[in-house]
Amino acid sequence: MTNKIQTNSPLVDQFSRTISYLRLSLTDRCNLRCSYCMPPEAAHNRTNVKTGKFLAHSDLLSYEELLRVVRLAVAMGMNKLRLTGGEPLVRRGILDFIHQLSLVEGLEQVRLTTNGVLLAEYAEKLYAGGIRYINVSLDTLQPEKFKKITGYDHFADVWEGLQVAKQLGFKIKLNVVAMKGVNDDEFHDFGRLALEQPFKVRFIEFMPIGEQNSWKKEQFIRAEEIQRMISELGILTPFQKKHGEGPARMFDLESPDKRKGAVGFISPLSHHFCDQCNRLRLTSEGKLRSCLLNDKETDLKSLLRGGASDQEISRCIRQTILDKPQGHTLQDDLTAEQRPSCGGRMSRIGG
Ligand code: SAM
Ligand code: SF4
Repeated sequence: MTNKIQTNSPLVDQFSRTISYLRLSLTDRCNLRCSYCMPPEAAHNRTNVKTGKFLAHSDLLSYEELLRVVRLAVAMGMNKLRLTGGEPLVRRGILDFIHQLSLVEGLEQVRLTTNGVLLAEYAEKLYAGGIRYINVSLDTLQPEKFKKITGYDHFADVWEGLQVAKQLGFKIKLNVVAMKGVNDDEFHDFGRLALEQPFKVRFIEFMPIGEQNSWKKEQFIRAEEIQRMISELGILTPFQKKHGEGPARMFDLESPDKRKGAVGFISPLSHHFCDQCNRLRLTSEGKLRSCLLNDKETDLKSLLRGGASDQEISRCIRQTILDKPQGHTLQDDLTAEQRPSCGGRMSRIGG
């Protein structure tokens, strides 16, 4: 197998996967403190910028640097981008950045993953900037529980954001991290929500990621168990695999009274989907990462700030793709003690 890619050819890795999708973590900061994402001490320390828990602004790639990387990646064959974080909407200047992205020739889609807290305020401007697809993370439909999981009383803001976004015509997916004893009593409610609202509800297996994550085996629920629970609401019919649905196994859900919705299951632990992975990630500290669950990273920021030419940056992107591992090794049968948690913090990697 050759380790060489021709210039202008699609970006294909050594396992024949075409890499077309770049995820940018714009910041590691966030206006929520979800227990499964942020380390516990950060949860209790709202001024943790000073303690070094968050990156300094100068450690983040500037918008100019990000645009340069995006232009080069698009010139090399990538065509889809996702803005994530941390919470991308808390980074100042994001709307201008999105406008600049809309001018990048060959970039077909810019999507956004958000916790929704600022969505009502930003939705119209995001739509005007060309964003059409948003993923909103929401693990509970109960305001009190929302506060428990995220540390903040913002359920109503997220809900309002969803309604505003719906009115504007965004295509909306809800991301629900499935946690036994936390929100499994609401899976039916989320399934019903998918029948009532134009939201595709995707359940995500809880992943042991981040150096001090709160992952516990007792809280882990396999995607197939969630699917079984949702099938109690109606008939699940698998989507014909469509481009752009990502790692979720998506299903139409039809209730006995003929209401229709769509649900999905993302199973990074119980059922690996690495053979279909088309992603490359750029972390908020400027590291290129070819696998969410593998800590190997390439320091792109040093190249960018060290005066590297476009050719050198492009070569670095190609090499990271060539080095993309065939798959990750996390399984769902780990005990809490032996789990090999990924060291990278989710908010820096971007999910
Ligand atoms: N702040 C934004 C949000 O929450 O949507 C974007 C960043 S967040 C890191 C991206 C996604 O990662 C969210 O859908 C979140 O639920 C998911 N996530 C974070 N930690 C996770 C974990 N330990 N297991 C599974 N999903 C996780
Ligand atoms: Fe913030 Fe998103 Fe992490 Fe929650 S999952 S703490 S909203 S970055």
